[in-house]
This record gives sequence, C-alpha cells and structure tokens, in this order.
Amino acid sequence: MTVSLALGVDLGGTNARAALVDRFTGTVVATHKLPHQERTPEAVVATIATAVRAAARTAGVEPGALGTAGVGVAGQCLGSSGTVLNAPNLGWRDVPLGGLLQAALGIDVRVVNDLSAAAWGERWQGAARGVDDAVLVFVGSGIGAGLILGGRLHEGGRGVAGEIGHIKVAPRGATPRRCGCGEWGCLEAYAGGMNLAARLREDAADGKAGAVLAAVGGDPARLSASAVEAAHAAGDPYARELWAEVGELIGTACANVVTLLNPLRLVLGGGMLLGCANLERIVRANVANGVLRAARRDFEVRRAELGDDAGVVGAALLGAGRHPHAR
Ligand SMILES: [Zn+2]
Repeated sequence: MTVSLALGVDLGGTNARAALVDRFTGTVVATHKLPHQERTPEAVVATIATAVRAAARTAGVEPGALGTAGVGVAGQCLGSSGTVLNAPNLGWRDVPLGGLLQAALGIDVRVVNDLSAAAWGERWQGAARGVDDAVLVFVGSGIGAGLILGGRLHEGGRGVAGEIGHIKVAPRGATPRRCGCGEWGCLEAYAGGMNLAARLREDAADGKAGAVLAAVGGDPARLSASAVEAAHAAGDPYARELWAEVGELIGTACANVVTLLNPLRLVLGGGMLLGCANLERIVRANVANGVLRAARRDFEVRRAELGDDAGVVGAALLGAGRHPHAR
C-alpha cells in the first residue's frame, strides 16, 4: 500500500500543510495543516514533522515507509541542495531546510519553490494537463511563476528561475518603489497585493482613494485589492486608473514571458488575480495584445484549477520523482 503514496508539504509564512498523495493519479488522500507558533527553522521543522505524522496516521502509513518527500517553500531555493536562500514570509536566509527535515523525518527530502510545486501540480491534475510547455503565474500578496519547459520543471542554473515578481518594470511617471526583496522597481513592488495595500494607504492619506477607502468602511488597515475591485465595479475613476496600470504591468510581464518561452498554456492563479474579475479581465486583454503573433498559435490562458492543493500535490510528485506524460 505504502508505495502508492507520496508525501508533499506546502510551507508558507503562516501554515505548514502536509499531504499524502496518490503517486499515480495525484489525488490527495490525507492532509493536515498546522499554523506556525514560531518561525525559527527548528520550530518550523518540528511543526512540519507533526503535520506529516498526523497526515500519515490518517492515511494509515508510517512516514519512514514513504522513502521520499517533496517540500514547496514560499521562497528562493538553491537548486537540489535543499537550502532556502531567502524566504521573506518566514524571515529566513540560507536555511538548510532539506537537511533539517531529512534528519527529523528520516527520509529523503526535495525542496522546491512553492510555485514550481504548484505548476507541477497543475501540470498533473489541473489547468496545465496535457501540455509539455506551460507557465503558471500567481498574483497574491506576492507575485511568482512556475515554469514547465519540454515536460520538465525548469528551475534554472541555481534554482531561482520563475521569479517574475522581481523583473524590473518602470511604470510611466510612477514613484520609484522598493520591493520586499530589497531591490527597487520590481513588478511585485507595484502589482503585488502586499505592496498594493501599502500604496493604497499612502494614496488614501493623500485623499486620492476615497471610493476605495469607503469600500472598507473608512478603515485604512483593511485596504486591499478586493476594495479596489469593489470601487472599480462601481465605476470609481481612481480604481479604474489603478487597475489599468496594475493589469498592464502584470499582463505585459506575462505576455513577454510567453513571447520568450512559447508555452502553449499560461495558467493564472493567486487570490488577488482570481478574486478580482475586472483585474483578471484587464490582465487577459494585455496578454492577448502583448504576445507575439507567432507565439499565439495553440496558446491558451486558463485559470488555475487546484487551489491550495496544487502545491502539496506538485511537491509530493516532484519528491517522488514522478513525471506526467503529455497527451
Ligand atoms: Zn523584488
């Protein structure tokens, strides 16, 4: 029985989620999610180990019998070394997560970026099924991508490929903004949910975002992409201009990636993008207009289908060395 299951972990800034996944179909068989009490590497590894044991108990297996595990981390990972170079949500730099987890669980661990894991999950079971070249772009509190090229996960020379949130963009007349990564002018600094909320608070303080502020009852702490979406739907000019700018930035970045890599599918995901219908429409229009004509043949844009499961499914199957076949 045990050989038919694979173990995947999705490690975010708030929770660790472990899942046992059918290694032939990618179906989630058992799952357990725990919040972080502390974010030190030792505490997080202990939380992951507890979640893994709970999920394994539900599935009726011993973690040690699974042989390997895959872990998707919201951060930059150094290739196959298991080292997390930078995970801002956890406050980590250069953490040897793979080795620590291997010691805690007694099995081999593969560490990958969370969006690489999500792309692999969508490739198996979701919106990128059946194509060997696909790009997954997530827009939530941050912005990132997973790349599947020629049927393989593309992690780059040192494992940090896909960082679309940190390509540099320079919107016309925009104030230079610093990104959470420490650099200036990143796409995420203008279009990621966390930085967008900071910008909304600045604009609200300058009296420029009245309708957006009204959408959250006048409480600046609740300003978010969904407040912009609500004001946009009501025809507010500030919200319309902001979504035009943000949608153009995200859409053009995606279009340029598609022109460069010629995937047959672009999968859009993340709470900010999928939760804001007007923003999604503007992003899609900019993708449709921006992709080089020759790269549009057989190219499709789809919404991510697996939600929170994409990361654990992809991590489990990557950890188990499973490759889907194109149809
Ligand atoms: Zn950045």
